[in-house]
Amino acid sequence: MKLFTHPVCLQHDPGPGHAESPARLRAVLQALDQDRFALVDRVEAPRATHEQLLRVHARAHVDKILASAPESGTLRLDEDTLMSPASTEAALRAAGAMVAAIDAVMEGAATHAFCAVRPPGHHATPDAAMGFCLFNTVAVGAAHALAVHGLKRVAIADFDVHHGNGTQDIFQREPRVLFISSHQSPLYPGTGSADERGMGNIVNAPLPPGAGSYEFRELWDGALLPRLHVFKPQLVLVSAGFDAHRSDPIADLRLQAEDYAWITERLVDLARAHAGGRLVSTLEGGYDLAALAASASAHVSALLGE
Ligand SMILES: [Zn+2]
Repeated sequence: MKLFTHPVCLQHDPGPGHAESPARLRAVLQALDQDRFALVDRVEAPRATHEQLLRVHARAHVDKILASAPESGTLRLDEDTLMSPASTEAALRAAGAMVAAIDAVMEGAATHAFCAVRPPGHHATPDAAMGFCLFNTVAVGAAHALAVHGLKRVAIADFDVHHGNGTQDIFQREPRVLFISSHQSPLYPGTGSADERGMGNIVNAPLPPGAGSYEFRELWDGALLPRLHVFKPQLVLVSAGFDAHRSDPIADLRLQAEDYAWITERLVDLARAHAGGRLVSTLEGGYDLAALAASASAHVSALLGE
């Protein structure tokens, strides 16, 4: 398997005290430095191109992010989304990682890939940055898979504790993409109720605060994974947020690292059954550093087939 990352993703800095800190990615990369990950092939992520970004974002939004990185300090785009001097470059590399990872699995250079990048992406809408996200990384990847690789069925599984509202907005009228999200409700950003269905290609599965391993596994086993198998995706993409962990400071679900191994194994099975094994995952949230490191390790171990 391949791991796509770039040093500039450590330099995007929303400022002191911000939950989405460079220390998050540092913790993930350090955890993945252990000997048991020696077989993971690290690849430097390229930049996403204009053309790739414009498949899911309005030109005005792309131009704004390209022009907004401040020369020093931070620039605030909304209440919790800030840019530092390296942020544009980091967001371009994050989206570019996803595109390159998809090319790698489509061309057979790898079966699974994980993009260890930030900023995260799933809240970014067609025309706005939001919720720590500048470009919608997973959506840029899915659109690339449709446009360049000619796929007819791409699944996006999003187990971040927050609803992937941006991904939903982008694909709610695109039946070639099935977007499935489990998330805590009520919680930021307030969307993701079960009656938001797009063209039948959006599946939202809210969990109440306090729900843990049992509820999460029952939901995926009982409803979400069967729906994914019916769709028969040719490529499985994952918005891998680890903020549903019980230690996470900004949400109230009660998962443990083993639950991330569990869901990853099932998504790998899904990819094996329909997609020639092809699965690409990208880092979304996760704000307790120890929990994030343990959860991302469990995820990548499962991708390695341990
Ligand atoms: Zn999140």
